[in-house]
Amino acid sequence: MATDEGRSALSIAQHRFEATAEALGLDESLRGILRAVKRELVVHFPVEMDDGGFRVFTGFRVQHSVARGPAKGGLRYHPAMTLDDARALAMHMTWKAAVVDLPFGGAKGGVICDPRALSASELERLTRRFTTEISIIVGPDRDIPAPDLGTNPQVMAWIMDTLSMHAGFSVPASVTGKPISIGGSEGRFTAPGRGLTIVTVEAMRDRGLDPMGATVAVQGFGKVGSVSADLLTRAGMKVVAVSDSAGGIYRGDGLDLAALRALKEEGGRLADYGAADQLSNDELLTLEVDVLVPAALEGQVTAANADGVRARVIAEGANAPLTLEADTMLEDRGVLILPDILVNAGGVVVSYFEWVQDLQAYFWATGEVNSRLKEVMVRSYQHVSARAAQRDVTLRSAAYEIAVEKVAEATRVRGIYP
Ligand code: GLU
Repeated sequence: MATDEGRSALSIAQHRFEATAEALGLDESLRGILRAVKRELVVHFPVEMDDGGFRVFTGFRVQHSVARGPAKGGLRYHPAMTLDDARALAMHMTWKAAVVDLPFGGAKGGVICDPRALSASELERLTRRFTTEISIIVGPDRDIPAPDLGTNPQVMAWIMDTLSMHAGFSVPASVTGKPISIGGSEGRFTAPGRGLTIVTVEAMRDRGLDPMGATVAVQGFGKVGSVSADLLTRAGMKVVAVSDSAGGIYRGDGLDLAALRALKEEGGRLADYGAADQLSNDELLTLEVDVLVPAALEGQVTAANADGVRARVIAEGANAPLTLEADTMLEDRGVLILPDILVNAGGVVVSYFEWVQDLQAYFWATGEVNSRLKEVMVRSYQHVSARAAQRDVTLRSAAYEIAVEKVAEATRVRGIYP
């Protein structure tokens, strides 16, 4: 999706890569390899609608890199999805997997559609046909999809079932974020929010900021935002504002998150909640809070509203929620920015655990998943933080340097075929 500065998610991803390659002094031939998206598939496919007619949808699957292992990344169902978004987010996944040291490359895909405007059976037919179209490049040792915006465990179940029907046997490791009953992992659903909470608490303590009682505003109340709100509260913080696409709500003495989740589960909008003040998404971003968690779409904090942001810490729950200009403006003001490829990597970390469990057909208890997740997130944060201190750069630059270095090294040591 284009941002207000006219920079697409792809140009932001490319800019970040080029800046990192420059800082690392990467030679031009390696740069050329890493900046290119390895493989991209665009599919146009018909789906039978409930009224008996057929509609043609467009979908994508893009693999940026497989240098460190099979490609990994989500599938997004969104009306504004573009091929460039898939390219940008695939590259993003390569760095995310590398910074937390998973043996994966990066991929992303999705379908241009509004899942809320489709019936459950239309969504199932769309998913099964799309899966069939991309089945030529996905699989447990090639490319493993997962949930992203607009997709959920049920969609993953249909994908797993479709790929399994084609194979003639169950292939649970072909997709992650599945329901637990078919090989999903304990703790996968809460993993992005749990990882975000772990890194946020760790980073605040590290910088002498007390998480206890810190006020929080969360933009987005989906898979990442709602769980983050909950777990940040359990970590001692006070969530005073949350929002969904229709707008937000504010309550200075803290929101009743269980009531808000119940409202959302019934199909309601946060703005319908009576026991809080209403505010717009833009007002939420500029609230006087200690911690801001943009956990909705890309490009939400821009040059136009960054000056108004008053949080001291920003934990990027979404992928690329800050434009390049906003990022620089906030960094210059000394705001502590916890970069997306680190702070929201909990989802893909537990996706990795899910894939490992499926391949071994041996499943772990929730406590084991969560403690291994904590270990990976804390270790990765400390690694990034030490690098930032050593090189006197931001946490984002340090995270990118670590990630690009790893992928560059894998590419170099494998050599170029033939
Ligand atoms: N869609 C998630 C992300 O952006 C998860 C990807 C995965 O688990 O493969 O990180």
